[in-house]
Amino acid sequence: MSDVAKNLEDIGKSINKAAKAAGRAAQDITLVAVSKRQPMDRILAALNAGQRVFGENKVQEAITRWQDVRTDFPDIKLHLIGPLQTNKAKEAVSFFDVIETVDREKLVDALSAEMQKQGKSIPCFIQVNTGEEEQKAGVAPQGLEKLLAYAKEKGMNVVGLMCIPPVNEPAGLHFAFLKTLADRYGLSQLSMGMSADYDKAILAGATHIRVGSALFGARE
Ligand SMILES: *Cc1c(COP(=O)(O)O)cnc(C)c1O
Repeated sequence: MSDVAKNLEDIGKSINKAAKAAGRAAQDITLVAVSKRQPMDRILAALNAGQRVFGENKVQEAITRWQDVRTDFPDIKLHLIGPLQTNKAKEAVSFFDVIETVDREKLVDALSAEMQKQGKSIPCFIQVNTGEEEQKAGVAPQGLEKLLAYAKEKGMNVVGLMCIPPVNEPAGLHFAFLKTLADRYGLSQLSMGMSADYDKAILAGATHIRVGSALFGARE
Protein backbone atom coordinates (compact mmCIF):
# COMPACT_ATOMS: atom_id res chain seq x y z
CA MET A 1 0.00 0.00 0.00
CA SER A 2 1.31 3.47 -0.87
CA ASP A 3 1.88 6.07 1.85
CA VAL A 4 -0.96 8.11 0.44
CA ALA A 5 -3.38 5.17 0.51
CA LYS A 6 -2.36 4.46 4.11
CA ASN A 7 -2.82 8.14 5.07
CA LEU A 8 -6.21 8.14 3.39
CA GLU A 9 -7.25 5.14 5.42
CA ASP A 10 -6.01 6.75 8.66
CA ILE A 11 -7.81 10.01 7.90
CA GLY A 12 -10.98 8.04 7.19
CA LYS A 13 -10.68 6.45 10.62
CA SER A 14 -10.15 9.83 12.28
CA ILE A 15 -13.19 11.22 10.48
CA ASN A 16 -15.28 8.28 11.72
CA LYS A 17 -14.04 8.78 15.25
CA ALA A 18 -14.70 12.53 15.31
CA ALA A 19 -18.10 12.07 13.68
CA LYS A 20 -19.05 9.47 16.26
CA ALA A 21 -17.92 11.75 19.11
CA ALA A 22 -20.05 14.53 17.63
CA GLY A 23 -23.05 12.26 17.18
CA ARG A 24 -22.91 12.77 13.43
CA ALA A 25 -22.83 10.46 10.42
CA ALA A 26 -19.39 10.16 8.80
CA GLN A 27 -21.04 10.20 5.35
CA ASP A 28 -22.09 13.79 6.02
CA ILE A 29 -18.44 14.83 6.02
CA THR A 30 -16.65 15.26 2.70
CA LEU A 31 -12.88 15.01 2.59
CA VAL A 32 -11.56 17.58 0.14
CA ALA A 33 -8.04 16.35 -0.69
CA VAL A 34 -5.93 19.47 -1.17
CA SER A 35 -3.63 18.60 -4.06
CA LYS A 36 -1.99 21.99 -4.64
CA ARG A 37 1.76 21.72 -5.27
CA GLN A 38 1.71 17.93 -4.93
CA PRO A 39 3.45 15.63 -7.41
CA MET A 40 1.25 13.62 -9.76
CA ASP A 41 2.27 10.20 -8.40
CA ARG A 42 0.79 11.08 -5.00
CA ILE A 43 -2.39 12.37 -6.60
CA LEU A 44 -2.72 9.20 -8.66
CA ALA A 45 -2.21 7.12 -5.52
CA ALA A 46 -5.14 8.93 -3.91
CA LEU A 47 -7.28 8.44 -7.02
CA ASN A 48 -6.43 4.76 -7.13
CA ALA A 49 -7.38 4.48 -3.46
CA GLY A 50 -10.81 5.87 -4.29
CA GLN A 51 -10.52 9.57 -3.40
CA ARG A 52 -12.60 11.69 -5.78
CA VAL A 53 -12.92 15.19 -4.28
CA PHE A 54 -9.91 17.48 -4.60
CA GLY A 55 -9.13 21.08 -3.71
CA GLU A 56 -6.85 23.47 -5.58
CA ASN A 57 -5.99 27.06 -4.72
CA LYS A 58 -4.98 28.38 -8.15
CA VAL A 59 -7.08 28.27 -11.30
CA GLN A 60 -4.31 27.88 -13.86
CA GLU A 61 -2.36 25.35 -11.82
CA ALA A 62 -5.50 23.28 -11.37
CA ILE A 63 -6.27 23.23 -15.07
CA THR A 64 -2.74 22.19 -15.95
CA ARG A 65 -2.76 19.42 -13.37
CA TRP A 66 -6.28 18.08 -13.82
CA GLN A 67 -7.36 18.58 -17.41
CA ASP A 68 -6.04 15.24 -18.71
CA VAL A 69 -6.53 13.27 -15.48
CA ARG A 70 -10.18 14.21 -15.60
CA THR A 71 -10.70 12.33 -18.84
CA ASP A 72 -9.63 9.12 -17.10
CA PHE A 73 -11.57 9.86 -13.90
CA PRO A 74 -14.73 11.66 -15.03
CA ASP A 75 -16.35 11.46 -11.58
CA ILE A 76 -13.76 13.74 -9.96
CA LYS A 77 -15.06 16.85 -8.20
CA LEU A 78 -12.76 19.86 -8.03
CA HIS A 79 -13.14 22.60 -5.42
CA LEU A 80 -11.53 26.01 -5.77
CA ILE A 81 -10.25 26.88 -2.29
CA GLY A 82 -7.92 29.81 -3.09
CA PRO A 83 -8.59 33.49 -3.75
CA LEU A 84 -10.20 34.19 -7.12
CA GLN A 85 -9.58 37.24 -9.29
CA THR A 86 -12.52 38.45 -11.35
CA ASN A 87 -10.56 38.08 -14.59
CA LYS A 88 -10.30 34.33 -13.91
CA ALA A 89 -14.04 33.89 -13.30
CA LYS A 90 -14.64 32.48 -16.76
CA GLU A 91 -12.06 29.71 -16.40
CA ALA A 92 -13.08 29.01 -12.80
CA VAL A 93 -16.72 28.55 -13.79
CA SER A 94 -15.89 26.31 -16.70
CA PHE A 95 -13.46 24.13 -14.73
CA PHE A 96 -14.51 23.84 -11.07
CA ASP A 97 -17.45 21.96 -9.56
CA VAL A 98 -17.54 24.02 -6.36
CA ILE A 99 -16.15 27.49 -5.60
CA GLU A 100 -15.40 27.96 -1.89
CA THR A 101 -13.93 31.46 -1.90
CA VAL A 102 -16.63 33.95 -2.86
CA ASP A 103 -15.93 37.01 -0.73
CA ARG A 104 -17.01 40.25 -2.44
CA GLU A 105 -19.71 41.76 -4.61
CA LYS A 106 -17.47 42.28 -7.64
CA LEU A 107 -16.69 38.56 -7.63
CA VAL A 108 -20.39 37.72 -7.30
CA ASP A 109 -20.99 39.93 -10.36
CA ALA A 110 -18.29 38.19 -12.39
CA LEU A 111 -19.26 34.66 -11.32
CA SER A 112 -23.00 35.07 -11.73
CA ALA A 113 -22.54 36.60 -15.19
CA GLU A 114 -20.28 33.72 -16.23
CA MET A 115 -22.59 31.06 -14.84
CA GLN A 116 -25.45 32.57 -16.76
CA LYS A 117 -23.37 32.64 -19.94
CA GLN A 118 -22.21 29.06 -19.50
CA GLY A 119 -25.62 27.81 -18.38
CA LYS A 120 -24.29 26.58 -15.04
CA SER A 121 -25.20 26.98 -11.39
CA ILE A 122 -22.10 26.03 -9.44
CA PRO A 123 -22.50 25.56 -5.69
CA CYS A 124 -20.55 28.27 -3.85
CA PHE A 125 -19.34 28.91 -0.34
CA ILE A 126 -18.83 32.40 1.04
CA GLN A 127 -15.39 32.71 2.62
CA VAL A 128 -15.54 34.53 5.95
CA ASN A 129 -12.47 36.20 7.42
CA THR A 130 -13.41 35.15 10.95
CA GLY A 131 -10.17 36.50 12.42
CA GLU A 132 -10.56 39.82 10.55
CA GLU A 133 -6.96 39.55 9.42
CA GLU A 134 -5.73 42.36 7.19
CA GLN A 135 -3.85 40.09 4.76
CA LYS A 136 -6.45 37.36 4.53
CA ALA A 137 -9.19 36.91 1.95
CA GLY A 138 -12.82 36.53 2.99
CA VAL A 139 -15.64 38.88 3.85
CA ALA A 140 -15.57 40.37 7.35
CA PRO A 141 -18.26 38.81 9.56
CA GLN A 142 -20.19 42.10 9.72
CA GLY A 143 -20.31 42.21 5.91
CA LEU A 144 -21.65 38.69 5.48
CA GLU A 145 -25.36 39.47 5.64
CA LYS A 146 -25.12 42.06 2.88
CA LEU A 147 -22.97 39.85 0.66
CA LEU A 148 -25.34 36.91 1.09
CA ALA A 149 -28.32 39.06 0.14
CA TYR A 150 -26.42 40.34 -2.89
CA ALA A 151 -25.44 36.83 -4.03
CA LYS A 152 -29.03 35.69 -3.67
CA GLU A 153 -30.28 38.64 -5.68
CA LYS A 154 -27.82 37.66 -8.42
CA GLY A 155 -29.16 34.10 -8.41
CA MET A 156 -26.05 32.44 -6.99
CA ASN A 157 -26.30 29.02 -5.42
CA VAL A 158 -24.72 29.72 -2.02
CA VAL A 159 -24.61 26.46 -0.06
CA GLY A 160 -22.42 27.34 2.90
CA LEU A 161 -19.54 29.16 4.55
CA MET A 162 -15.80 28.59 4.55
CA CYS A 163 -13.02 29.90 6.80
CA ILE A 164 -9.29 29.69 7.40
CA PRO A 165 -8.65 30.58 11.08
CA PRO A 166 -5.64 32.70 12.09
CA VAL A 167 -2.59 30.49 12.65
CA ASN A 168 -1.93 31.60 16.22
CA GLU A 169 -5.43 31.43 17.65
CA PRO A 170 -7.40 28.37 18.80
CA ALA A 171 -9.12 27.14 15.64
CA GLY A 172 -12.04 25.73 17.60
CA LEU A 173 -13.33 29.22 18.45
CA HIS A 174 -13.37 30.17 14.78
CA PHE A 175 -15.08 26.94 13.79
CA ALA A 176 -17.80 27.51 16.40
CA PHE A 177 -18.22 31.10 15.21
CA LEU A 178 -18.57 30.02 11.57
CA LYS A 179 -21.16 27.43 12.61
CA THR A 180 -23.14 30.14 14.43
CA LEU A 181 -23.09 32.32 11.33
CA ALA A 182 -24.19 29.45 9.10
CA ASP A 183 -27.09 28.65 11.42
CA ARG A 184 -28.09 32.30 11.58
CA TYR A 185 -28.41 32.48 7.80
CA GLY A 186 -29.84 29.01 7.24
CA LEU A 187 -26.80 27.62 5.42
CA SER A 188 -26.23 23.90 5.80
CA GLN A 189 -22.63 23.44 4.67
CA LEU A 190 -19.41 24.38 6.41
CA SER A 191 -15.94 24.06 4.92
CA MET A 192 -13.47 24.25 7.78
CA GLY A 193 -10.59 22.28 9.24
CA MET A 194 -7.23 21.36 7.71
CA SER A 195 -4.56 18.73 8.47
CA ALA A 196 -3.85 19.96 11.99
CA ASP A 197 -7.40 20.50 13.20
CA TYR A 198 -9.99 18.72 11.07
CA ASP A 199 -11.18 16.63 14.01
CA LYS A 200 -12.04 19.82 15.93
CA ALA A 201 -13.80 21.15 12.85
CA ILE A 202 -15.93 18.00 12.62
CA LEU A 203 -16.90 18.39 16.27
CA ALA A 204 -17.95 21.96 15.48
CA GLY A 205 -20.07 20.87 12.50
CA ALA A 206 -17.82 20.85 9.43
CA THR A 207 -19.38 19.20 6.38
CA HIS A 208 -16.21 19.68 4.31
CA ILE A 209 -12.67 19.35 5.62
CA ARG A 210 -9.73 20.45 3.46
CA VAL A 211 -6.75 18.20 4.09
CA GLY A 212 -3.46 18.47 2.21
CA SER A 213 -0.20 17.58 3.95
CA ALA A 214 -1.66 14.93 6.28
CA LEU A 215 -2.79 13.05 3.19
CA PHE A 216 -0.10 13.73 0.59
CA GLY A 217 2.90 14.71 2.70
CA ALA A 218 4.80 18.02 2.56
CA ARG A 219 4.22 20.19 -0.51
CA GLU A 220 6.89 20.98 -3.12
C1 LIG B 1 -3.36 24.47 1.53
C2 LIG B 1 -4.72 24.63 2.05
C3 LIG B 1 -5.30 23.63 2.85
C4 LIG B 1 -4.58 22.36 3.28
O1 LIG B 1 -3.67 22.63 4.28
P1 LIG B 1 -2.94 21.40 5.05
O2 LIG B 1 -2.47 22.02 6.30
O3 LIG B 1 -1.84 20.95 4.14
O4 LIG B 1 -3.95 20.35 5.27
C5 LIG B 1 -6.61 23.82 3.26
N1 LIG B 1 -7.31 24.91 2.92
C6 LIG B 1 -6.78 25.90 2.16
C7 LIG B 1 -7.61 27.08 1.81
C8 LIG B 1 -5.48 25.78 1.70
O5 LIG B 1 -4.97 26.77 0.95
